[in-house]
Amino acid sequence: MSAPAASSAGLPEGARVVLATHNAGKVRELRQLLAGAVPGLEVETAVVDAGAVGAPDVVEDGVTFAQNALKKARAVAAHTGLIAVADDSGLAVDVLHGAPGIFSARWAGRHGDDRANLELLLAQLADVPDEHRGAQFVCAAALAVPSGPDAAGARAIHVEHVEHGRLPGTLLREPVGDGGFGYDPILRPEGRDVSTAQLSPEDKNAISHRGHAFRALLPYLVDALDARP
Ligand code: IMP
Repeated sequence: MSAPAASSAGLPEGARVVLATHNAGKVRELRQLLAGAVPGLEVETAVVDAGAVGAPDVVEDGVTFAQNALKKARAVAAHTGLIAVADDSGLAVDVLHGAPGIFSARWAGRHGDDRANLELLLAQLADVPDEHRGAQFVCAAALAVPSGPDAAGARAIHVEHVEHGRLPGTLLREPVGDGGFGYDPILRPEGRDVSTAQLSPEDKNAISHRGHAFRALLPYLVDALDARP
């Protein structure tokens, strides 16, 4: 699909998108990214948590960021009947051949235990010299647009799209800064002398993997919103 023009002029009233995530850090950044770029857009969130009451059952068993992001977006779009966007992201460390990668959120075993994940990674890299501490944040941003319900009430997905973004940098030896989430305190972006946890939310969005991926996805989102019946 070739990129549609990124025009958000005259968005229909009540244009809504639902974020398919349960990660509070991502919600903060995505709200700002989407609502800032598409005036008038209402941004809702849907919990994506296999087993949670009322949530679509999404098991993140894809082998790529894109597969997992699409899985979340499709499930939430079909469940809510709303246009959905999802993010699957993580940290890819050079000397670990891209790990933790899609396992970033559960590197130390328990999903979402940011502190334990970060401490385990630092311990694993303790002997890695500065010149080999390259890593990047990677994000796949997915869009899924549902069709109207069929006779049985089920919704198919009739448009979907994925874009990627990355933020290269160097891993520090200990956490610095208290902003952001996840591995932010240990990544120093290329060309900066602070960690991503020391950047303001706006500055992080301007250079981040998530910012790049979602800005690339925006024209497709606006197109889908404009095409709503
Ligand atoms: P997901 O919810 O399965 O996509 O897991 C994403 C995980 O990757 C998070 O729990 C964080 O550990 C890490 N991650 C993704 N994006 C960022 C970021 O912007 N900063 C820090 N850590 C991130």
